Formats: sequence, structure tokens, C-alpha cells
Amino acid sequence: MDFGFSISRSSTVNLDSVALENFTKLQALEPDALKCISCGSCTATCPAGKFSGMSLRKVIHNLQRGREKEAVEMLQGCMLCGKCSMVCPRAINTRHLIMSIHKIYGEEAR
Ligand code: SF4
Ligand code: SF4
Repeated sequence: MDFGFSISRSSTVNLDSVALENFTKLQALEPDALKCISCGSCTATCPAGKFSGMSLRKVIHNLQRGREKEAVEMLQGCMLCGKCSMVCPRAINTRHLIMSIHKIYGEEAR
């Protein structure tokens, strides 16, 4: 029966079935990866967001949930300007974190 609308696919992630080895490596290299509170200040101030859809908040969120491919693809829009590090309320060195993500995830997640 067509009701004229459909129910969105569930975005639930079962963390028990997700491989988080790379995120564990990232935490070891960059403990700040665990400090993010998903406030979105970095995304709001990012000059690349409007043009490329870059959102560091979403990148970290995806990595914490094992969505590596999506995170690495989104990071391609980052210009490494460092503006986000000036607004992060958790004082995360976001630029350094982004470079560490590239180092850990690099080619293998693509
Ligand atoms: S370093 Fe990247 S994520 Fe941060 S504000 Fe600049 S372009 Fe955006
Ligand atoms: S500004 Fe900092 S704490 Fe807020 S979402 Fe970005 S990285 Fe996380």
C-alpha cells in the first residue's frame, strides 16, 4: 500500500560488529580523538564546508562508528587551514588530528 511517504532506513550502528582497529591506532597516536564532544563548532567555522561538504564533526563521528570510507572521502575537502582548531572548545589540535587521520587511514580505507 502506498501511503505517499516511506520510513527512512535505520542509521543504527551495532558497535559490536564494527572493526575499530584503525580507530584504536588513531587514539594511540592522537589521544585527542576521544575528546571530541560533537559540538560542531569546527564545522560551523570551516571555510571548506560550504563548497565541499567537509565536516570534521562528521568525520570523527564516522570514524568512531567504523565508517572509514565516508570519513576519508569527506576529508578530501579539507584545506588544512587550521581555522577549526581556533574554535574547538576541547582545545583539540584539529589540524594535527586531521593529518594523523590521513596517516592511519590513508589509502587502505578507500
Ligand atoms: S583545517 Fe580543514 S576542517 Fe579545519 S577549518 Fe580548515 S578546511 Fe575546515
Ligand atoms: S569543535 Fe572540537 S569538540 Fe567540537 S565537534 Fe569539532 S573537534 Fe569536536
